[in-house]
Amino acid sequence: MSRYDVAIIGAGIGGASLAAEVAPHARVLILEGESQPGYHATGRSAAFWSETYGGPNIQPLVIASGDFLH
Ligand SMILES: Cc1cc2nc3c(=O)[nH]c(=O)nc-3n(C[C@H](O)[C@H](O)[C@H](O)COP(=O)(O)OP(=O)(O)OC[C@H]3O[C@@H](n4cnc5c(N)ncnc54)[C@H](O)[C@@H]3O)c2cc1C
Repeated sequence: MSRYDVAIIGAGIGGASLAAEVAPHARVLILEGESQPGYHATGRSAAFWSETYGGPNIQPLVIASGDFLH
C-alpha cells in the first residue's frame, strides 16, 4: 500500500497550488470528491488577476501571487 506524508482535501486551485508547493519535499495525496479536478469555483473562474479582487482578507493573498503569475 502506498504511503503519503501529506493529504490535501480538494483539487481546486487552492489544493492543487498547495500540492505543487509541498510535492518537492513530501509525498502528497490529493483527495477530490468530484470525478475531476477544478469542478467547482475553479472551473467557473474567469481567470483574471486584479490586485483589488476580494475583501481585506483576500487582497493580500492576491497581491502576493502577482509576481508568480506575471
Ligand atoms: C463565476 C466565478 C468567476 C470567478 N472569477 C475569478 C477570476 O476571474 N479571478 C480570480 O482570481 N478568482 C475568480 N473567482 C474565484 C476563484 O474561482 C476561487 O476563489 C477559487 O477557484 C477557489 O479555489 P478553491 O480551490 O479554494 O475552491 P474550489 O475550486 O471550490 O475547490 C475546492 C475543491 O474541494 C473539493 N472538496 C470540498 N470538500 C471536499 C471533501 N470533503 N472531500 C473531497 N473533496 C472536497 C470540491 O469538490 C472542489 O473540487 C471566480 C469564482 C466564480 C464562481
